[in-house]
Amino acid sequence: MPNKDGFFGEYGGCFVPPMLEPIMKEITEAYEKIKDDPVFKEELYYLQKHYTGRPSPVFHAQNLSKQLGGAQIYLKREDLNHTGAHKINHCLGEALLAKRMGKKKIIAETGAGQHGVALATAAALVGLECDIHMGEVDIYKEHPNVVRMKILGANVIPATHGLKTLKEAVDSAFEAYVQDPVNQLYAIGSVVGPHPFPMMVRDFQSVIGREAKEQFQEMTGKLPDNLVACVGGGSNAMGLFSAFLQDDVNIFGVEPAGTSFKTGDHAATLTLGKPGMIHGFKCYLLQDEKGEPAAVNTVASGLDYPGVGPQHSYLKDVERVKYETITDKEAIDAFIELARKEGIIPALESSHAVAYAMKLAPTLSPDQTILVNLSGRGDKDIDYVVEKYGKDYGL
Ligand SMILES: *Cc1c(COP(=O)(O)O)cnc(C)c1O
Repeated sequence: MPNKDGFFGEYGGCFVPPMLEPIMKEITEAYEKIKDDPVFKEELYYLQKHYTGRPSPVFHAQNLSKQLGGAQIYLKREDLNHTGAHKINHCLGEALLAKRMGKKKIIAETGAGQHGVALATAAALVGLECDIHMGEVDIYKEHPNVVRMKILGANVIPATHGLKTLKEAVDSAFEAYVQDPVNQLYAIGSVVGPHPFPMMVRDFQSVIGREAKEQFQEMTGKLPDNLVACVGGGSNAMGLFSAFLQDDVNIFGVEPAGTSFKTGDHAATLTLGKPGMIHGFKCYLLQDEKGEPAAVNTVASGLDYPGVGPQHSYLKDVERVKYETITDKEAIDAFIELARKEGIIPALESSHAVAYAMKLAPTLSPDQTILVNLSGRGDKDIDYVVEKYGKDYGL
């Protein structure tokens, strides 16, 4: 999967303006050629090992497991990667591809700035110019990441229309891309967008699942009984899941339930959305009355997207993966709990996966196992958590 037109069942595809069709085809062909090229594979492998710090460890969270009194929880530590999350995995891949294709500049949008920082990092390393489009409101809110991107040599371009947040940043980046798709590559930040991006980003992230499978078997002699990962666009989840889809393993994707299931209060796309179109592909989509992408909200800005990867949409329909939800409050509890029991501060996005594992574990016996993808570290979230929830935890 996908088929040659980029479909996972009825989802995915490449619905772009006619002028971009040949460009998407060119990217697909370049990627198909490069991905099995031993020189490219060696280069990527070298950077994964010596730059990102792979393989990231798998850790048995014994204190947390013991306290919950059920299944054993293991963490795949993507939080220990250079730049602090899984996003560097596909950003390095995309930057190397852009370089190989002779592009001069790599561009993207960013919401909270996590994708922007990872891409600016990869661009600096590989030697490409980098333009990151970001809503004016987010530029103000996410000041530390804006500074990081600038230090890394990227141009941060403000989107000044509409609500001045993520959607406007996508519009702005897209407009800039269309003006010169020959010299630029639009590096999408998850397993979303038109073909070939959902496939390509999944493949670059699949290193998580391949490593985890080997490490887990080495540690326990078995496959994990359950996998858990948070789902925004779905890249860290696809990265882990892809290695286990053919195995006898229960798989759970966790979406943000925010503060309620009212439209605008959550981003539980697979749980509450209906098939629709966004950003050049078909997927489950949260929609308003007019069928336009709905407003979304969650404490984890990296999960704040009304669409979701087409492969997740397919895996839901064929019931290979179960999609569950976790509220803001449950995620914050898990954030604090993991910090206090294991000395690991997870990203608020990853805290959704931890929270679901904490619910699942007590329903299972101690000889069963849960492998959680800890997609990123929580340094970026500490001020927000203390300011907004500190009182509840004596902070
Ligand atoms: C961006 C981000 C996510 C959400 O993106 P996916 O494509 O769904 O993986 C999850 N965790 C962290 C730490 C992130 O930065």
